[in-house]
Amino acid sequence: MKKIEVKGLSFSYNDGKQVIDNISFSIEESKHICLLGNNGSGKSTLSKLLMGLLYPNEGEIFIDGELLTSKNASLLRQKMALVFQNPDNQFVGATVEDDVAFGLENRLVEHDKMQPIIDKFLDLVGMSKFAKSEPSNLSGGQKQRVAIASALALSPEILILDEATSMLDPKGKREINQLINSLKKENPKLTIISITHDVNEALYSDEVLIISSGKIIEGGNPEEFFKNKQLVNENKLDQPFIFKIKEGLQSLGYDVDSSNNIDDLVNVICQ
Ligand code: ADP
Repeated sequence: MKKIEVKGLSFSYNDGKQVIDNISFSIEESKHICLLGNNGSGKSTLSKLLMGLLYPNEGEIFIDGELLTSKNASLLRQKMALVFQNPDNQFVGATVEDDVAFGLENRLVEHDKMQPIIDKFLDLVGMSKFAKSEPSNLSGGQKQRVAIASALALSPEILILDEATSMLDPKGKREINQLINSLKKENPKLTIISITHDVNEALYSDEVLIISSGKIIEGGNPEEFFKNKQLVNENKLDQPFIFKIKEGLQSLGYDVDSSNNIDDLVNVICQ
């Protein structure tokens, strides 16, 4: 089933420069898509269009087959939840559990129904023991885990991660990517859109959509896409770190063809 369908979408801000240029694509339910592009390529603009926060000059967006318009945008937006780049900008509560409660209050969930929901999602992201902590005492990765719990508590059908790991250190990035992987198993119907400029991030997704100067290229399976150096260069992207290490090891004679993460590579080298 098509969860999101975009047809002939174009958008320009007041200066008239075409920022989204006649793009069409669709996202199937339960897929994890990576919207990958360099800074200024139009990723944020596209995500605002998908959320009904901006309206296209031309073209249409369908969510669950329903045309997104100014009339139904706030209703359709309830199917989506967003996690932003800066973990510090999205905290509104004095404690971790207050923060998850805030979104539920906005959705008018009754007070006595909130606590089990808060407990469930803090547990899911491994943050239960920090429920009474002040957000300022948490690491970046922990803050993003709480932000993801707050987003999931709203029972979204579509989770949009807008550069959600780009301010985190490598440990924080790994923490969040592992969490996303386990969320996919926990909630197989959830559709996830990761918006990022980080090619390494793209490897965690099922499909990659490359955005460049407001146009979209369907990259398909990320492994396959990044193997094609010419295509990667044409789109002004870099190869993921793991691909570079593999290439180096292959030139030294190691058989790392089927190794797709650092742990696999270490195993091959240590054999
Ligand atoms: P990305 O998220 O990929 O960095 P953006 O969607 O933020 O890209 O920006 C795409 C283009 O639109 C850029 O050239 C940017 O300068 C321009 N742009 C973004 N926001 C505005 C705005 N509010 N007014 C005018 N131009 C904008």
